[in-house]
Amino acid sequence: MVEKKRPRFIMCFCTGECPGFAKLELWKFINFVRKELDVEYAIIHPQLCVDDGDRFLKDYLKAGDNNVTYIIGGCDPKMQRKMFKDAFAEKGLEFDKQVISLDLRNLETSEAMKKVEEVVNKLMAQ
Ligand code: SF4
Repeated sequence: MVEKKRPRFIMCFCTGECPGFAKLELWKFINFVRKELDVEYAIIHPQLCVDDGDRFLKDYLKAGDNNVTYIIGGCDPKMQRKMFKDAFAEKGLEFDKQVISLDLRNLETSEAMKKVEEVVNKLMAQ
């Protein structure tokens, strides 16, 4: 039996200054995701939608990883799509099929954990 590929979790923390994430205890949250959930790994980036974030995605995304699912925690999914889809397309990856964008703003830590947990469990149950 082929082992199911675990999703990769990327948290975009909006510089750490965004009021939308004021309630999120980042380290508690990310350690929960990486240790308790069935993910390949979990990482944090401070601001994916600016130049260095773009450069990071160009380095990080790999052509051929078409069977990988990326869960990106951050702002509004429509905004994420607008800002990240080109970086995925440049590597031949399909944002709409491979990315699950989660709006984690204005949530308590436990609510954000639950939101990610539900998505990961659903993916791994498929
Ligand atoms: S992608 Fe969204 S969450 Fe990330 S830094 Fe930009 S506005 Fe903030």
